[in-house]
Amino acid sequence: MREDVNEKCAVVGIFGHEEASRLAYFSLHALQHRGQEAAGISASDGEKLRIIKKRGLVMQVFDEDALSTLRGSSAIGHTRYSTAGDDSILDAQPVFARYDLGEMAIAHNGNLTNAEEVRGRLIKKGAIFQTFMDTENLIHLIAKSEEDKLTPRIIDAVQKIEGAFSLVFLSRTKMFAMRDRFGFRPLSLGRLSNGGYIVASETCAFDLVGAEFVRDIEPGELLIFKEGREPKSIKIFEPTPKHCIFEYVYFARPDSLVFGQSVYQTRKNMGKELSKIKPVDADLVVPVPDGGVPSAIGYAQESGIPYEMGIMRNHYIGRTFIEPTQEMRDLKVKMKLSPMTDIIRGKRVVVVDDSIVRGTTSRRIIRMLKEAGASEVHMRVSSPPTTDPCYYGVDTPDKDKLIAANMTQDEICEYIEADSLAFLDEDSLLRSVNTKEDNYCTACFTGNYIV
Ligand code: SF4
Repeated sequence: MREDVNEKCAVVGIFGHEEASRLAYFSLHALQHRGQEAAGISASDGEKLRIIKKRGLVMQVFDEDALSTLRGSSAIGHTRYSTAGDDSILDAQPVFARYDLGEMAIAHNGNLTNAEEVRGRLIKKGAIFQTFMDTENLIHLIAKSEEDKLTPRIIDAVQKIEGAFSLVFLSRTKMFAMRDRFGFRPLSLGRLSNGGYIVASETCAFDLVGAEFVRDIEPGELLIFKEGREPKSIKIFEPTPKHCIFEYVYFARPDSLVFGQSVYQTRKNMGKELSKIKPVDADLVVPVPDGGVPSAIGYAQESGIPYEMGIMRNHYIGRTFIEPTQEMRDLKVKMKLSPMTDIIRGKRVVVVDDSIVRGTTSRRIIRMLKEAGASEVHMRVSSPPTTDPCYYGVDTPDKDKLIAANMTQDEICEYIEADSLAFLDEDSLLRSVNTKEDNYCTACFTGNYIV
């Protein structure tokens, strides 16, 4: 259960459906786990772009009246996670602008690593920014490009940015979808039952609206959607895949296909690998819900130790307040997770979680299990120690707050008050996601940053 690492956003685009904004709305529901602070949809009826965005969950931002104003057969949408203090409605997306070629809206998942440099150059040339979002750089780059049409302007603009970006753009008559050359963040293409198209951060959105998965948008690829023709693909960058492996570890929903693979199956594989390399003599395997569930199932299947839901999660807490202090964070864990005392009492428990970031949540969970009568608690983590922050679209604490960057494994074990502690190693993690090639980013486990 992560309170300390958050995917920053999700994006969706619908093209060629008369209920485009409604489909975007349902898709954003499916993608809500990637951001709960704000949501927005921009739709086009071919003549005008309309936009609604607000702070809040998707269902709080939109109602029937709001959706009925978002007319047209194309729409893009966004859900946003924002860090404490960064809660302005101005920072909700899509970002909308009027410029010399008309109107455009952009939704972005990722993080531009040269955003400050680009912004500084634009400001020197007289650009005025309304937000702190790196996405706004793109609006200015497109508006200021000397190309005379939108497609070459988008190509011109994305060649000036670096880092992680899965983007959807909407103009009055076209929709565009694009991934950076490394493909850090996922973006998939699906076909709607009426022949229209959907692009989304995760395929769980396709399932909800009855769309069929077609393929991932390739790293470095720009897809252009225009009425009456098949999507046109342009390779902007030579693909150099470095997909975010943390999508498999924690972010993506288990029922999604991400980077071409089932998230659920890869998580189960992680649990199996963990059981092979870090076995322990115990009576029960218990997941930390929800993130640890598939890997705990894998651990139990491989080890033969019975699997039990020894911890219940209260799903109705949500992000109701910011937790500035450790005491508040501890209280929130208590509100969220409760032990199944009858199952735990007197048992040697293997507790499986997806990752350890600060260590405070793990300590609280282990204390809770021991208070519930567990005779031993062995912590097994289905990813390697998180030693470095992410610069590619994931909100992580600074390095000095990452427990694995500041303590040895034995010290962490003592800190979280476990009887034993073991992590998955990098090779086993890569084996779990079925790759022999070096096409994943693992920088938060290794410090090997790509850009
Ligand atoms: S640093 Fe970690 S979280 Fe960030 S993109 Fe790489 S693997 Fe994903």
